[in-house]
Amino acid sequence: MAASGSDGPARGGGLRARAARRRAEREEEKAARQRESDARRAHGGTPELPIEIDSPAAIEARALSQPCPRCLGSRLLVSHDAETVDGERLRVARLRCPRCGTEQRTWFRLHRSGPGLH
Ligand SMILES: [Zn+2]
Repeated sequence: MAASGSDGPARGGGLRARAARRRAEREEEKAARQRESDARRAHGGTPELPIEIDSPAAIEARALSQPCPRCLGSRLLVSHDAETVDGERLRVARLRCPRCGTEQRTWFRLHRSGPGLH
């Protein structure tokens, strides 16, 4: 708590530049968190809202086509498994961003386009 408004401007502007940088980092952090929560709400972000696909071969390309929600870098596929959630067979791709370390899962549901189904 400053007792008075006697905090003068920083010498050389170094402090102000640092404050501006910190503010920019905070903004970026906020944007990153927003992107992460958007990604969780988007298709594939949860097992309740999987991405429908026709072939398991499409999973990896599809998962990798989405950039890291945090830093927008490209990610690596860690694993690709089948999981049963609420009695439904789902596929989950686990992705990791080598740049910022964010891990994310993308959920898929195999759409069976066999005969008899319309
Ligand atoms: Zn990242």
